[in-house]
Amino acid sequence: MDIRESLKKLPSVERVLEDERIRARTGRLSRRGVIRLVRDRIDALREEVRSGAAEPPAEADEALGRIVGETVAEIDSIGGGRLRTVINATGVVLHTNLGRARLGRRAVEAISTAAARCTDLEIDLADGRRASRHRRVARLLRLLTGAGDALVVNNNAAAVLLAVDTLARSGAVAVSRGELVEIGGSFRLPEILGSAAGRVMEVGTTNRTHLGDYEKAIDDGATLLLKVHTSNYRVVGYTSEVPLGDLTALGARRGVPVMYDQGSGILFPLEEEGIEGEESIVPIIERGVDLLSCSADKVLGGPQAGLLLGRGDLIERMRANHLSRALRVDKLTLAGLEQALVHYWRGEFDELPSLGMILLPADGLRRRCEALAAELRSSAGAGARIDVEAGESSIGGGSFPSNPLPTALVKVTLQAGGPERLAQSLRRADPAVLVRVKGDAIYIDLRTVTEEEQPFLLERLAEGIGSHRGRK
Ligand SMILES: *Cc1c(COP(=O)(O)O)cnc(C)c1O
Repeated sequence: MDIRESLKKLPSVERVLEDERIRARTGRLSRRGVIRLVRDRIDALREEVRSGAAEPPAEADEALGRIVGETVAEIDSIGGGRLRTVINATGVVLHTNLGRARLGRRAVEAISTAAARCTDLEIDLADGRRASRHRRVARLLRLLTGAGDALVVNNNAAAVLLAVDTLARSGAVAVSRGELVEIGGSFRLPEILGSAAGRVMEVGTTNRTHLGDYEKAIDDGATLLLKVHTSNYRVVGYTSEVPLGDLTALGARRGVPVMYDQGSGILFPLEEEGIEGEESIVPIIERGVDLLSCSADKVLGGPQAGLLLGRGDLIERMRANHLSRALRVDKLTLAGLEQALVHYWRGEFDELPSLGMILLPADGLRRRCEALAAELRSSAGAGARIDVEAGESSIGGGSFPSNPLPTALVKVTLQAGGPERLAQSLRRADPAVLVRVKGDAIYIDLRTVTEEEQPFLLERLAEGIGSHRGRK
């Protein structure tokens, strides 16, 4: 049939709205919103027919049925009013797409109180005067890190933006070519620097940068020396970078501030637990860096925020920058962050779930895997082969790329096509389950699954493996 003829078979918006299946659902829904959904579906089908991407409808009834079906699916997908819960069986602890760090019970309570009640966010109840919303977290950060002062903004990207805008807007920032990177999905350093600095001076080459390169940049007008922890990649081979200590000494001698974008925000001495490869914040500050920035929702284990730690006068200048108002954190973030920092202050490390997951030893994980494997073998029957093997988890969030954590994995081996199908049905479950797929198997890493989540995981897996068998 001629395409113009079949386009005439598309229903009008009114015709779709009269359909019983739509009317049964729309009761008190926003009429404007439903009309918009219907119109978008009709427009999309028209485009798809025109471009040949969709089969032209042969009859008006068929076209109506398709539009109604798609509209109903859209309406139903909006209903929940919440993000879908995901059981993270990937072993990536700080999974950016899954929201990075998990907060502990007390941080969640603090956030929910701040959300539902009025609080002394910006008032000093002792004298009734206006107070800074940052006062509590800034004090904790000073005490925990030894920094002169601290400022909290929306995320680490905002922290870098604010620092560079404050210290290099009417000057220049010098950064090593080897550190001009994209980190953690869409944090593109060159673009952020380009938008905030008067000038960006790229020093050195991709693989080698020397102290003299920074010195020359200062001669040419650099007002900020920025060093970036290239979290998610490493240049190997013939390389050299300037140690932070040498850079801070140069900055101090020439009166130019040195900033280090550390990234992952490590406040816990992980190297003492045998997890090496990234330095924690405190020794970096002790070595005299003028400013350090990091995320609060990576290894630190708080809500999404960016921390700026360093010299009091520099923090004060950033606070006075009008941009800091635009990058200001909300009360929920501050409530959650304060509680996470209080856990560090009190040494309550077991109240920080993501940190706990990073620290889980492989032998305990292997025991949990053996138990899960045994349960799966008995409940899922002979549809799949189930083994436990050694593997690696990763901290994620762009941290510790070359320092995987030893772990144990439950391996479910299936027939061709089975792993993808099973992974898909697990993703569509509620709560959804995310696993690793490789070759002819799916892999489950219990490092990132809590004890409370494990029964759901078992149920979904048993169901998924069972129905996979039924289909073949
Ligand atoms: C993750 C990371 C960023 C981006 O931080 P966000 O909090 O996601 O904005 C910037 N720099 C480094 C070194 C990082 O590791």
